[in-house]
Amino acid sequence: MIKNIALVAHDARKSELINWVRFNAGSMKDCTLYCTGTTGRLVGQALEEALGEDVPQVNKLLSGPLGGDAQIGAMIAEGKIDMLVFFCDNLIMQGHQNDVMSLVRLASLYNIPFATNRSTADFIISSPLYSDSEYERIIPNCIETYKNRKV
Ligand code: PGA
Repeated sequence: MIKNIALVAHDARKSELINWVRFNAGSMKDCTLYCTGTTGRLVGQALEEALGEDVPQVNKLLSGPLGGDAQIGAMIAEGKIDMLVFFCDNLIMQGHQNDVMSLVRLASLYNIPFATNRSTADFIISSPLYSDSEYERIIPNCIETYKNRKV
């Protein structure tokens, strides 16, 4: 079951993410959201417009270029994030490109549902598994193996 959702969008794709949030606001009502700073401000506004008073908690982390992507990556590694929607600008390199790549790597490593575009985000949020309390994400074996490796 998805409870803690991280949302991040680069400037060129913020409106795309906000449209997705508006459309899916009802499905996130009982979730806790974690966003990079500017994305979080816009997501909070969009949820208020869509849902009125009954809005989910939106935790605004640092802005992406100032470390927000790295904060979300760390939360994934700590098991605090169940799903990531990350709309990157695919046409330009970011000043914080290393943080962007790190976030993508950690989302993949920890096997969290991870959308980089709208159709994937739609498929995840409309999946029966999204609200299935029985569903448990598998933590890849390589993580335990790595922790116990002989050095
Ligand atoms: P922002 O950061 O939400 O603060 O704009 C997004 C990013 O660049 O990762």
